[in-house]
Amino acid sequence: MNDQHRTKPRPRVVVIGSGFGGLFATKALRRADVDITMIDATGHHLFQPLLYQVATGILSEGEIAAPTREILRRQQNVRVVLGEVTDIDLTARTVTSTVLGRTTVHGYDELIVAAGAGQSYFGNDRFAEFAPGLKSIDDALELRGRIFGAFELAELAETQVEIDRLLTFVVVGAGPTGVEMAGQVAELARRTLRENFRNIDPAGARVVLLDASPGVLPAFGEKLGGLARRRLSRVGVEVHVGATVTDVDADGIEMEDSDGHGHRFDAATTIWAAGVQASPLARILADQSGAHIDHARRIVVQPDLTLPGHPEVHVVGDMAALDGLPGVAQVAIQGGRYAADAIQRRHTGKDPRGPFRYFDKGSMATISRFFAVVQIGRVEFGGFLAWLMWLAVHLFYMVGFRSRVVTVLDWLVSFLGRGRAQRVATQQQVYGRMALERLFEEFEAAESGPGSPTVSSGSAQPSPVVEPRRPGGAEASRPPARTSTERQ
Ligand SMILES: Cc1cc2nc3c(=O)[nH]c(=O)nc-3n(C[C@H](O)[C@H](O)[C@H](O)COP(=O)(O)OP(=O)(O)OC[C@H]3O[C@@H](n4cnc5c(N)ncnc54)[C@H](O)[C@@H]3O)c2cc1C
Repeated sequence: MNDQHRTKPRPRVVVIGSGFGGLFATKALRRADVDITMIDATGHHLFQPLLYQVATGILSEGEIAAPTREILRRQQNVRVVLGEVTDIDLTARTVTSTVLGRTTVHGYDELIVAAGAGQSYFGNDRFAEFAPGLKSIDDALELRGRIFGAFELAELAETQVEIDRLLTFVVVGAGPTGVEMAGQVAELARRTLRENFRNIDPAGARVVLLDASPGVLPAFGEKLGGLARRRLSRVGVEVHVGATVTDVDADGIEMEDSDGHGHRFDAATTIWAAGVQASPLARILADQSGAHIDHARRIVVQPDLTLPGHPEVHVVGDMAALDGLPGVAQVAIQGGRYAADAIQRRHTGKDPRGPFRYFDKGSMATISRFFAVVQIGRVEFGGFLAWLMWLAVHLFYMVGFRSRVVTVLDWLVSFLGRGRAQRVATQQQVYGRMALERLFEEFEAAESGPGSPTVSSGSAQPSPVVEPRRPGGAEASRPPARTSTERQ
């Protein structure tokens, strides 16, 4: 290395997000002569594909959420920073993050944005109160509390009507997440909870799966969709396709079938697995770069995953829209590695590699114990072998040796036996989300003028138990939600 090179400062790379895109990009830069700052609103790398197993008591949250600091402890060129990114300034080349009122501005020479996607209620955000999605550890623990809590309340209920409502579980969205969730709730009711109650028979629980599409697992095609549907019926899941959700409240859900007939399911637990929308950071980037935003609020990127006029800004994973690529882990992983390679090439004077090409390694979804469906190119099959492949692939992509070992033990307990090791649910998990939302509303009301309730910043304590709000009459005029199955 000559003197000129030695005195040149190392390029600063900021990575937003420690999910699949951000983590794999960062790891791919381990030997690069750069200084990386990885910013994430959480302290962990979340393995989202197994969130439904946390929600249904098979796995603990720690098994699927490895601490990012620990994963990257040996990678000396990375600093991990906790904080929510609230702004990106493409002209000043800065990223602003904040945690507990402490705001930090990070300068960058190269930026990788991999902030993923959140739940979409298709314009009906009020559904979120009664139909939680499954995107984070908080979501999974809240759902766990709601699912196990419904059986507890049913044991105490005094009328059959009340028991039936409490033991009806509706899952909206028949993509992989919805199918996996419905199958696991059915198995929980029929196998795990057998002999646990004295007044109710958990096996009598009704599990309903709804989707606006004409079939189950639409992305897997008719053959595998049909296989999945038959298997779901065998484990006791009632499937309604061509079903558009028109309303959700604390006591149930309303839908319209393909003939326009309305129907209501009285259900205490509704789970939303129907749609995704990209992180709001996509909009911030689009406004400054002139890039388009698509129907799922993803930012349309250049063929090399950068923004128009900003070759130093790389957007990967669920936030990026390019040639109809699906929102799956492999797209994020390969996109992250591609962005890392582009950065290294630029700073070592090599030519760019050419446009990003996604290598599709196939798709899989598990329906129930011992049964999954797999699609690799034109090869499609379902059953026990597919299920073994599903187990192996998920173990392979899990981060950390300990997590893998503990997961295998938990799977043995759940799938060979009938137990589920992780059935702890606390009030905070069930009510925390709503309590926080109400607290923020109070803060906003307090800030927006006189006559509003005043909340002192020093006494920001949510009340310990918050009853669910009932929907107001005005909300009924909102448009119905179409369910879709992007990667859910
Ligand atoms: C329940 C579920 C099951 C799934 N199952 C599968 C499957 O079986 N197979 C498959 O291939 N894919 C599956 N997926 C999709 C897959 O998980 C995603 O495609 C993948 O995680 C996308 O990676 P990403 O890096 O773009 O985003 P993510 O992995 O979501 O990571 C985004 C990161 O950004 C952070 N973040 C977001 N906003 C901010 C902010 N403002 N400031 C700081 N940090 C921020 C988040 O905390 C998160 O860590 C599933 C997804 C879900 C939700």
